[in-house]
Amino acid sequence: MTGPRLPLLIFGVVFAAALVLAALGYLSLRRWEQAAERQLREQARDAAVMAAEKVEMAVVRVEQDGIADIQAAALDPAFGPEAVEAWRSRHPLFDAVYLCGRDGRVLYPVGWSPEDGLVIAALRAEISQGFWDRGGRRHLDVGGRVVLATVLQGSPRGPLLVGLRRDDRALGRDVLDRALAATEGRSALVVVDASGRSVWASRPLESAAPVLTVPFGEALPAWRVALYEPAGLAPRDMVRRQAMTFMAAFALLLGLIGTGLVATYRLQRRESEIARLKSDFVANVSHDLKTPLSLIRMFAETLEMDRVPDEARRREYYAVLTRESERLTRLIDNVLDFSRIESGRQRYDIAPGAVEPVVHEVLESFRHPLHQQGFAVDVSIAPDLPDVPLDPEALKQALANLLDNAMKYSADRRKIAVTARREGDGVAVEVADEGIGIPMSERERIFEKFYRIGRSETQGRRGSGVGLALVKHIVEAHGGRVTVDGAPGAGSRFTLHLPGA
Ligand code: ADP
Repeated sequence: MTGPRLPLLIFGVVFAAALVLAALGYLSLRRWEQAAERQLREQARDAAVMAAEKVEMAVVRVEQDGIADIQAAALDPAFGPEAVEAWRSRHPLFDAVYLCGRDGRVLYPVGWSPEDGLVIAALRAEISQGFWDRGGRRHLDVGGRVVLATVLQGSPRGPLLVGLRRDDRALGRDVLDRALAATEGRSALVVVDASGRSVWASRPLESAAPVLTVPFGEALPAWRVALYEPAGLAPRDMVRRQAMTFMAAFALLLGLIGTGLVATYRLQRRESEIARLKSDFVANVSHDLKTPLSLIRMFAETLEMDRVPDEARRREYYAVLTRESERLTRLIDNVLDFSRIESGRQRYDIAPGAVEPVVHEVLESFRHPLHQQGFAVDVSIAPDLPDVPLDPEALKQALANLLDNAMKYSADRRKIAVTARREGDGVAVEVADEGIGIPMSERERIFEKFYRIGRSETQGRRGSGVGLALVKHIVEAHGGRVTVDGAPGAGSRFTLHLPGA
């Protein structure tokens, strides 16, 4: 398979393989994401459970201290409201204390508000007879506040039911700070109260997202520890980032493969075009060699056999012989020079010299064919031309090629203008015809080796396709350049710009 289909097929195969690879990559990324998510949740749960246990233990310890202290105070026969006040100042975690005797009498506070009444009623309702006897500790929820209830034994006043209401703000300040201060890592711990309000956070939450919550034990009923992960660090985000990188690298790879294939395709097309042009070249050159040779032979034979009617005709035959042999020489020179250029052996002998004699010499060598083919030549050479560095033989060859083309590619309007004028320090030499002209799109390519515009073939004009490549090489060896303008149907003008010394 050749042509544009092969690279397309390769690209298709590469693309399909790439798609399969992308699908596999995506699946394994998903699996990785799920595993990472599971692991994160497990770690988060462990961290949250540990935090909850720490807080719980700290709360229980503070409560135990408080109870032990009030128990000790209650043993004192003088235990009364003042001792309770003193106890309160030592235990700021509790913002209210309630004491009742077994007979239901309220010993503390001395005067109570309706809010206190609610707590006392709840205490009385919750505490059974067994609790009075067996003792123990219980957390009650009264209007959303935690009240720790226990029975103090051994007081001279008999067993006392004590209710200690916890101050949530003090809890955050004194207990949570201390218990959770050492929390490290990138996740944030948040303690949420029964109403869902965050009571304490290990760090500002800003853009963190909750991962999970776990409940506390009995000491903090309805409270929860929530674990937050900073945004962008969740496995989903990490996988998404990874997938983006993966996809970008992938797109780049596909782009590179595509570019490589296009480049290969172009190279391949160019090579096959050059191969085609080369074989055309051989055919054209052989044909170009044959025509003048057969003319020479025919006229030479005619002369040899003395079959010439008159002297004028004889001179004309000799002229044909000269013209055709010059043509042959030019063709062979072109081919030889071209092959020297191709192998890098072409040398130019450049020295300051005048352009005018070169132009005249070329015109002289073309005088005959120009005249014979009915061309009117308008020559205009400026009188003030400076000498420029040049290789006269090479310049002759370049001009001869331009003149030859001007004749070849002229149709009915057989007019050629040859101009040499000053251009800065240098000289510009122009050869203009009124022939078939050159389309804009071909103006670059005609200077490529072997390149011929399709029409030159169809219009039966002979040529090898190396003439303009030679012209370009020669003028560039002189440090100059060749330009072309004109319009299809209106003729062409080639200009050699030769810089001064
Ligand atoms: P060729 O041997 O075919 O003339 P050249 O390299 O001299 O090769 O020219 C390349 C092509 O450029 C020609 O085949 C022709 O199509 C086009 N060309 C060159 N000179 C002229 C011109 N004066 N007018 C129109 N077309 C031209």
